[in-house]
Order: sequence, then C-alpha cells, then structure tokens
Amino acid sequence: MKPLPENRSELFITRMRWLVVLGSPLLFYLSGLNTGLVLWGVVIGTALVNFYVHFYMLSQPISRNWSHLLSVLDTLFVSTMLFLRGQHQTDLHQLYYFLILVLGIRYGVKKYFGLVFVISIIYLAVSLTGAAFYRTGIDKVQLATQLIYFIAFGILASFILQREYEQQQEKEELIKELQAAYRQLSAYNAQVEEMAIKDPLTELYNYRYFVGRLREEIQWAQKYNKPLSLILLDIDYFKQFNDTYGHPAGDAALKKAAKIFQENIRDRDIVARYGGEEFFVLLPDTSVDEAYLCAERIRKAIEKTDIKVEEKKATAKITVSAGVAALSTGTRTVKDLLQVVDQALYQAKKLGRNKTQIYRPEGF
Ligand code: GH3
Ligand code: MG
Ligand code: MG
Repeated sequence: MKPLPENRSELFITRMRWLVVLGSPLLFYLSGLNTGLVLWGVVIGTALVNFYVHFYMLSQPISRNWSHLLSVLDTLFVSTMLFLRGQHQTDLHQLYYFLILVLGIRYGVKKYFGLVFVISIIYLAVSLTGAAFYRTGIDKVQLATQLIYFIAFGILASFILQREYEQQQEKEELIKELQAAYRQLSAYNAQVEEMAIKDPLTELYNYRYFVGRLREEIQWAQKYNKPLSLILLDIDYFKQFNDTYGHPAGDAALKKAAKIFQENIRDRDIVARYGGEEFFVLLPDTSVDEAYLCAERIRKAIEKTDIKVEEKKATAKITVSAGVAALSTGTRTVKDLLQVVDQALYQAKKLGRNKTQIYRPEGF
C-alpha cells in the first residue's frame, strides 16, 4: 500500500488531532490532576501548529517534509503528555492508538509494522523513564499487555486501511478507464460528425451539409433583407485531364483546387464539393456583383496554378468555369437558386470555358 499523500487524508488526520489536542487537557482537568504550565504550553503549541497546518493545507498540497515534521510533532505531543502524567497515573497511553492510526494513514501499510514497533519502543522508553522520574514501580504486566494491544490494534487498523486503500485504488482505476473511454468516444464522435459533413478527398463540406446551410442562410437573408449569392464552379475538361495525367493526378488537382477556393473566400463563406469536379461557394450577405469578383479571383488563381504530376515529372494546368447567381424576387428557394446557378455555369461553358457568368433574372 502506498502512502496517502493527498490533502484529504491529512485534513482528516488534522481533525482527529484537534480532538486529541483539545480532549487531553479536558481529561486532565476532569481527573482533577495538576495541569501545569508545561502541559498548557504543549497543548497550546500543538494547537497552533494544527491550526496553521489546517489552513495551510486548504490552500496548497502538503509536502512530504511537512508530513514527516507533523509525525515527529504528533509523537512528541503524545509522548510528552504521557510523560507528564506518568504511565502509572492515567490512561493516556491510549493516545498511542491515535498515533498508530495517524502514522498508518500517512505512511501506508507497508511501513505499518515498523511504525508499530517504533511506537512501542517509544512507549516503553517513556513509561520506563516516567517510572524512574516519578519514582514509581513498573507494572510489567500492564506494560506487556499494552504492547500486545498496540500490535493487535496495528494489525487490525492496517487491515482496514489496506481494504480502504484497495477500494479507493479500484475506484480510481475505474474512473480513469471511464475517462479514457469517454475521451475516446468523444474523439470518435467528433470524427464521425466530421465525416458526416465533409468530403474525404478535398476536406471541403459535402453537398448534404451545404444544402442545409444554404437553406439557413436563405432564411437569414430573407428575414434581415440581405443579399445572398452562390457560385457554382466546374473544372474544365477534367475528364481529359484524368485521361492525360491519370486519376491520382486528377485527385491531386481537385485537392489543390479546393485549397485555392478556400484561400479566396471570406471566413463567413462556405465552400462545398457538389460531387465530381463541381463545387459550390455560398456567400451570405454578398451581392451578385461582389460574388462575381470572388468567382473571378478564384478563376484567375486556378488558371495561374501549376499542378505537379509526380509520375510524369510534369506540371499541368487546369481552368474552371463559374456560374454566379443571387437571391431575388424570382429566385427565392434552394431549388430556384441551384437551378439558376447551374444555368449560369452552363452559359459559361458554352462561351468557351474558363469564364464566369452571372445569372440575371432578365436574361444574360
Ligand atoms: P467540362 O469542361 O464540360 O466540365 O468537361 P469535363 O470533362 O470536366 O466534364 P465531365 O462531366 O464530362 O467529366 C467530369 C470528370 O471528372 C469525369 C471524372 O472522371 C472526373 N472526376 C469526377 N470526380 C473525380 C475524382 O474524385 N477524382 C478524379 N481524378 N476525377 C474525378
Ligand atoms: Mg461537371
Ligand atoms: Mg467539368
């Protein structure tokens, strides 16, 4: 059994100590024995130490050195009490039970028998010197009985403490396991949530997530009477790109394009992969002309970008066509917007690709 270093056990011990410190003089008083100045000095001194330790412990973890010092003080306190009264005069030797328990809690069961041994020796020493000092005879039977009691008490207390400690350990291990499982589950959940809304190749949002957001943003725009625009991007001749450079190069190009899209939008805008080589950019609170500028910025950035094709040791280029549309009186729903933005893209393709076209309700 490991020692119990936590403040909790020390706090518990300190409370026990209060009882002893305050209880002992009361015992003296009630027994009508002389309560001398030295005794009061010891009691008040110990009380002050207890008081300090108690509040010190409430504010910070207690160190090992503090524990050792307190053990010495406790032993001194109990032994002084016993010596002052003389072993023959009172039942104060029972304070050693307190000492056994306190030190046992502090140092653990492994050291328990050593502790009981040391305390027994101290008890013997105090009893013998006390007997010599007060010139009283030694009651050997009482002394031996007391020692046997100490050892028996030590065994009993160690058994209880050990059980208590093991249960505590089990609980802590269980809590740790639970916490680990919970953390794992949370991470897994986050991963699943991420997977549910993101496209694995480009790490952009997927179409399902995008449509949900589009619906919300349309509601927001209509409620606050704000503009809202949508861009639909499609990579030009991408089939040909795949045929020329291979599918892996095509995948790399899609990733690169996704990165460029993200670099050319504002924080509030949302880029999503529609599927294949088609992408949406949702621009809340943005007019169709501003959206056009954004689409053009993306188109030009894509056009300028070199795509490395490792296998062929070559660099390739791609271009995109873009359709742009905005909410208007005739374009009010998700379905409307998707339809008109697709028309705009179709126009851009028809005009020769690598172009941006705006859908205007009155015509192109
Ligand atoms: P257009 O200019 O008219 O858009 O021509 P296009 O070839 O780009 O259009 P089309 O719709 O005929 O072909 C799209 C191609 O995109 C076909 C498909 O092989 C490719 N593609 C779709 N998804 C992926 C993908 O995840 N990875 C790769 N490498 N290619 C993809
Ligand atoms: Mg396409
Ligand atoms: Mg295409």
